[in-house]
Amino acid sequence: MPEMPEVQAHAERLTDDFAGRRLRRFAPLTFTALKTARPAPSDAHGQALLDVDRRGNYLLLRFASVTFVVHLMQGGRLLVDAKQSAKPRGGQARWLFADDGPALLLTEQGTERRAGVWCVPTADGLTAPPLDRLGPEAATIDPSELAARFADRSMRVHGFLRDQRSVAGVGRRLANEILHRAKTSPFAMTGKLGATGAATIVTAIRDAVAEGLEYERGRDDMSASKDRPGRVHGRTGEACPVCGDTIRAVEYSGYTVNYCPTCQTGGKVLADNTTSKFLK
Ligand SMILES: [Zn+2]
Repeated sequence: MPEMPEVQAHAERLTDDFAGRRLRRFAPLTFTALKTARPAPSDAHGQALLDVDRRGNYLLLRFASVTFVVHLMQGGRLLVDAKQSAKPRGGQARWLFADDGPALLLTEQGTERRAGVWCVPTADGLTAPPLDRLGPEAATIDPSELAARFADRSMRVHGFLRDQRSVAGVGRRLANEILHRAKTSPFAMTGKLGATGAATIVTAIRDAVAEGLEYERGRDDMSASKDRPGRVHGRTGEACPVCGDTIRAVEYSGYTVNYCPTCQTGGKVLADNTTSKFLK
């Protein structure tokens, strides 16, 4: 799933390529692509795209009256669409511009069909659903605010980081990378991390995000997850680049927690009795 660095770099590329162009028409290609009824997407017809911004892992296509909020979920992409074929593969929605240049096309591969578009009023400060549920941006949260959020809600830190209501922009991959950098167990309880633990996590978030942004800004399209830089995510069985121990995994139905025992758990191998099967 694209996370903050991928979404941010993509927003910057799309701003460079599309800002200033006038929207001719927003065209949903499936019945489920548009998640909202008001404001109408047609309110933006004839208006110039101000920019493409980001909040959490959402892309924001900002016009004067309406902002299109786009979530790519697992298999979605927002593509530059020069061909504009009648039935694009996985096509969900299309933004057509008045100059007849390339369109923007939201696609989603796979069967989940969870990517989508929400229209929200631009003037209200982007506080309408689905943006209202998002916590502060992970990349800019300060240590004292994170410490307060940790104290408010004690849970496993890996789950906390992935929950967009806690902090916005971190997903499964970044959570693994952040906790490895912070030398913190993915199963550590946030209520016990304190101010020092929060400060360590903030530094790790900033480092992991900076590494992802540097890689992603060097590309001319959004990376696939296997290409993204990292030390532990997706590297089960490989050697930890810091200490040489073997990277371990706890498998859940939708994702994998990767960690290094020596760096993160005092050498202890983690198991979850209820929901995980364990990879040797
Ligand atoms: Zn290690």
